[in-house]
Parts: sequence; C-alpha cells; structure tokens
Amino acid sequence: MSIELLGWGPDLAHAFSLLLSQSSLPLVPGRVVRQERGLLTVQTSERAFLSRPSGRLLHQAPSAEALPTIGDWVALIPPSGEGEALLHSLLPRRSVLMRREAGSEREGQLIAANLDVVFLVTGLDGNFNLRRIERALTIAWNSGATPVVVLSKADLHADVSALLLEVEALAQGAPVLALSALEGTGLEELRAQLPAGKTGALLGSSGVGKSTLVNRLLDEARLATQPVRPDDNRGRHTTTHRELFVLPHGGLLIDGPGMRELGLWGEEEGLSQAFSDVLAMAADCRFSDCSHRREPGCAVRAAVEAGGLSSERLESFEKLLREQAYQARQSSSAAQREQKRLERNLTLAGGQHSRAKRRRD
Ligand code: GDP
Ligand code: ZN
Repeated sequence: MSIELLGWGPDLAHAFSLLLSQSSLPLVPGRVVRQERGLLTVQTSERAFLSRPSGRLLHQAPSAEALPTIGDWVALIPPSGEGEALLHSLLPRRSVLMRREAGSEREGQLIAANLDVVFLVTGLDGNFNLRRIERALTIAWNSGATPVVVLSKADLHADVSALLLEVEALAQGAPVLALSALEGTGLEELRAQLPAGKTGALLGSSGVGKSTLVNRLLDEARLATQPVRPDDNRGRHTTTHRELFVLPHGGLLIDGPGMRELGLWGEEEGLSQAFSDVLAMAADCRFSDCSHRREPGCAVRAAVEAGGLSSERLESFEKLLREQAYQARQSSSAAQREQKRLERNLTLAGGQHSRAKRRRD
C-alpha cells in the first residue's frame, strides 16, 4: 500500500527527512492505523507492523499527549526478524483530539491524531439536543480539525430542513448536513466533506448510528451493529480497538470505541469560535469585564431581550465558561504536582527515573 493513500504528503516527507538526517537508525515512516490499548499497528509502504513505543519515547514524553495514538504518523524501526517494530518517534501532528478522562480531573485522554475533519453526529430522534451540538463544536475547534455537524436518522424527522437552519445558526460556519444511514440518503454530502487522503472521525453518543454509517460508507458490514441499550455508558463494547479505514472513495475514517461522549477539553480558542456571535455582542457591553447579568449597558442581555440571542444559548455559553475555568484550575494544580515530582526526581542523584504510571488506552 502506498502511504500517499493514507494521507502522506510533502510536509510529512520533509519532517521525516529532517529526522533521518539526524539519526543513524534505519527509520521507516508509517501511520498508526489500528490501536488496541498499548499495541499499535503501523502501516508503512512495505507492510503493516505491530509496534510498541520505544522506552526512549515513553520516558521522554512530557505528558500522555505526547504518546502515539491512532492516526499518528511515526518513524519506526522494523524488527530484524519476526516480532514487533519499535516506534521511535512521532512526526509533527496537524491536530489532536483529546477528551477529559471520566472521573479524572488530571490529564486528557488521547482520542486520535491528525484528523482533518470531525463529524459530530447527533440523531434526529430523542437524542437531538442543540446544547450538545454546541459543546461538541467547542471540542472539535479545539482539536485543530474542522467540524462538520451530522444530523443522523433524518428518516425519523418530518421537517429536516427547518432543523438544518436551526443548527446552521449555531454552527458558526461549520457545515451541517442531514443523512439517513438506513435509507442511504445524504451520504454523498458526507463523502464530499472527506476527500481522498483526508482523515475524519465520527463523534457522538452511543446509539446515534455511527456504526451503521461506517458500514454504509465501507459498503460492507464490517462492524457489528447492535440495538441501542437504554444505558449508554455501559455495555456495547463489541470492539476494543480503534481503526483507520480507507473508504472506497479514498477518504480515511477513524472509528472505534472511545469516540463517544466527550468532556470539554482544551483552551479558550475553541469556545470563542463556537460562540463567536456572543463574543461579538459582548464587545459592545459598556464594561469590558461585564458578566452579562446586572450591569447597565449590557449588549448581550439586550440581545436576549430583543430576541437576537436565545437565553439557552447564553446559558450554555456561561456554563462552558465555568467548566473551562474549573478545568484551568485543575490543570494548573496538576502542573504544580508535576513540577514537584520533577524536582523530587532531580534530587534523587543518579537514582532511577520514577515515572508516574500512566493509563493509556
Ligand atoms: P452507534 O452506537 O452510534 O454506532 O449506533 P448504531 O449504528 O449501532 O445504531 C443504533 C441504532 O440506530 C440501531 O438500531 C440502528 O439500526 C439505528 N439507526 C442507525 N442509523 C439509522 C438511520 O439512519 N435511521 C434510523 N431510523 N435508524 C438508524
Ligand atoms: Zn454584558
């Protein structure tokens, strides 16, 4: 398989040749196309290798974010005979998608790297929720990939075009499309958002129809589709790995568990993009630190009163701001703990490097 089919291009070739020029190792470029816990499958132009990160890579990683994940481009050292390849280093990423780990306030969990497009899938059934779409848009903008909002199960809704307008109003320029994986409608629009050589992922709660959609796109029943369970968070772990699929039209799609509910993760930039309309209004508030509650001359409240901004949208903006402030506090205390740990290690003259055990997916 030519790695061009996997999205290899001049920027990556350049980064790789720099790496080669600084190393005497027999490095080969490839892309992580499958991930099952710590075990990665890397596709090179020759063949696919089971690979593990080298000790050097593990030890030098400043955080879990610097470890290889599905979608990464890597330099690896092939095994001399049978056995696993050694994953020597990561090539620069175009984007990285992370999620807050359930029950953990510390590190984000890597979901995928080098996505060009993230499809935010919401079902046009009981699952439909504008606030959830806003939230997902924020996460998507943070990743560096371009979000596309996908309204799935369009066959279940009588007035899809009205909904499209409603979602477009809050999508801040992100494309919005409706489709039915069941009936096979709207798939061309989706393919058009994922041209050959570009990498996408479907994100959305369990039950919105991601597997059905992937099957459709692959033109074959590769993933087991199961009935929706009432409890979304448990059960339904039919696959334990994530995989990068080459679709018949040449687009690349990463799918697998862990691509579901997302906690908010990242910097303010994503938030400001997802709520650029609110921020534009806030620029007209009399006070620059306006909290948009009681202050006189508040342009945001004026917009709510005039009907130009829904109070729900303002509320979800404020909620996201609060969550982000909370996460900023958490990560600064995590950074302080990390600093202390490093200082402790430095004072252990000549001692073993103690590494906090990281749980990786
Ligand atoms: P996933 O958990 O997001 O992967 O969702 P699945 O693909 O497993 O689909 C969940 C349920 O929704 C299944 O019962 C599917 O048959 C159903 N479903 C998927 N796509 C559609 C669709 O376009 N229309 C309708 N009516 N049902 C769908
Ligand atoms: Zn204000």
